[in-house]
Amino acid sequence: MLKRVLIANRGEIALRIIRACRELGVETVAVWSQADESSLHAQLATRSLCIGPARAADSYLNQDAILSAALATGCDALHPGYGFLSENPDFAARCVQAGLKYIGPDAEVIRKLGSKAAARTLAQQAGVPVVPGSDGPLKNVRQAKALADQVGYPVLLKASAGGGGRGMRQADGPEDLDQAWQEARAEAVACFGDGELYLEKLIVNPRHIEFQIMADTQGHVVHLGERDCSIQRRRQKLVEESPSKALTPALREEMGQAAAAAARAAGYTGAGTVEFVLAPDGRFYFIEMNTRIQVEHPVTELVTGIDLVREQLRVAAGLPLSFTQEEAAVHGHAIECRINAEDPARDFMPCPGVAAFLHLPGGPGVRVDTALYTGYEVPPYYDSLVAKVLVHAPTRLEAIRRMRRALEELIIEGFPTNASLAHLIMHDPEFVRGQYDTSFLDKNLVRLLELARTCDRLMDQEEPL
Ligand code: ADP
Repeated sequence: MLKRVLIANRGEIALRIIRACRELGVETVAVWSQADESSLHAQLATRSLCIGPARAADSYLNQDAILSAALATGCDALHPGYGFLSENPDFAARCVQAGLKYIGPDAEVIRKLGSKAAARTLAQQAGVPVVPGSDGPLKNVRQAKALADQVGYPVLLKASAGGGGRGMRQADGPEDLDQAWQEARAEAVACFGDGELYLEKLIVNPRHIEFQIMADTQGHVVHLGERDCSIQRRRQKLVEESPSKALTPALREEMGQAAAAAARAAGYTGAGTVEFVLAPDGRFYFIEMNTRIQVEHPVTELVTGIDLVREQLRVAAGLPLSFTQEEAAVHGHAIECRINAEDPARDFMPCPGVAAFLHLPGGPGVRVDTALYTGYEVPPYYDSLVAKVLVHAPTRLEAIRRMRRALEELIIEGFPTNASLAHLIMHDPEFVRGQYDTSFLDKNLVRLLELARTCDRLMDQEEPL
């Protein structure tokens, strides 16, 4: 096994990794920025050290500081978590050069899949259907126009280096294309330092279905079923569930095999996620592969009973997967609601603050992954995710009831969150029926927020109803 792992991350995912390490008897080294001195990950690791000022560029993205910390503390491996440096091939390569095991796929695999335009080509070569669109990156807007005429509008211009729903613009007709091109490019340069764009036909009202993959260095590739992540705001996920109501057993089998084929073709090792859009006509298309642990990985852990972070550590240590495809069966139903420090009524504006009072849900079938504690100040410098509330139950409807109950127990005082919006989603007939797609929140947000306001008003009235 590994001896000592440096965790190049913060927040709930840093805690998640510390927990998996502890259970395996592996020591941990946490690194923290000056804004995170009082954070839980800094306190719960075997050792912890400061790597720089609050700004991510000076700390969690500071490769030299992180590598020095790993070497100075005698680490033999590094876990990047998600976000920050987790999909940076140069960093993965530097870890290996420094003698550290990088807990993730090889740098060259990250590089190949990190360009979303190149990943499309790779998937296509593996026989996996991709959304009709460009072969590789686009040279100019003229090329984009010609291609859009060919595949038909509406289309999406997407950043090759994109992530988190950024660097993406829709064009409904040729008249939109110039502006979409300029905006997508500018955002791609600003967010990722890389303006390369490619084009995809926009699949109207699809579901976002992704498959969890685990692969070892012995050549085994296993998929652990799907997650339906169609409840999104601004193309970012808010609610995830497994299994998806949209898949038949035959389609699940077909998509699972396609996901495993894409991973095999890439020479993949470790945990990864193959993302698809599923069109209303039942056809599915590869959109990208994420070469890291995902925020929503616990959904899969709950339905399969497999600890994915533990498995990542085992694979990095050179051990074979501890389960076969047949053993990676899905039991019951799991749902995750992401709780963010944000105000849904003000366009989901991030609203960090002090958690003046905190009460977390518990009881049967409930899991909460969070780095919050009462009195903790959420720093304004990083992601607004503050907790992931998860439930597991024998059936989907029982899971929905359990999620309602868990969200009713959750109390976070001190800053606004999207928790009551999540609670309303759990009561929405379309959600309860499982008949929703990625347009759900855009379509229903105003109505749900109005409902929340009316309820709050009624409950705040001094006269009892
Ligand atoms: P990112 O890496 O920024 O998350 P993705 O390519 O994964 O970008 O897409 C994010 C979301 O955008 C998807 O979950 C889906 O809702 C939507 N999307 C992406 N590509 C398409 C497409 N071709 N047609 C329709 N929706 C899409």
